[in-house]
Amino acid sequence: MVTAVYPGSFDPIHNGHVDIATRAANVFERLIVAVYAQPQKKVLFTAAERTEMVRRSLCDLENVTAIHYNCTTVELVHTQNAQVIVRGLRMASDFDLEYQMALTNKALASDIETFCLFTNLHCAFLSSTTVKEIVIAGGDVSSMVPAHVQRALEEKCR
Ligand code: ADP
Repeated sequence: MVTAVYPGSFDPIHNGHVDIATRAANVFERLIVAVYAQPQKKVLFTAAERTEMVRRSLCDLENVTAIHYNCTTVELVHTQNAQVIVRGLRMASDFDLEYQMALTNKALASDIETFCLFTNLHCAFLSSTTVKEIVIAGGDVSSMVPAHVQRALEEKCR
């Protein structure tokens, strides 16, 4: 059984993340969506809030669970008895960072493979930062995030 970990900040989860998680869940027997509790970048939602939003967004997928973590991603992969890290690629500008991260993780743990999935065309422009900026400016993100995420964003931002 191959278990994959899909790590990220998910601040908050949006439809691009949902798409990657859904497709990864079709490929791997088990998928753990892992919310990095304290990323370098400033976050809007707490780790518990981000994890709960991930859980609600993916609750229809039986082989998917959501957790948050504080250690390195490779340590998490080992402790979860997983073998694979899943990442999503939107555009060429994502590649350099993902490549560097994949090589770093390989140097830290040679037994773990990184699988990158390409975004769906309709999600290519989506990022958590953009979604937050639209809500702060009073715009409508209903086509970009699940309804409960939109409500949480509006409560937090307005
Ligand atoms: P990070 O992990 O860098 O903090 P995120 O939490 O936003 O960033 O994203 C987690 C993963 O999902 C990353 O691999 C990122 O490239 C990918 N991702 C983000 N937005 C999209 C999208 N619109 N389509 C596909 N993959 C995406």
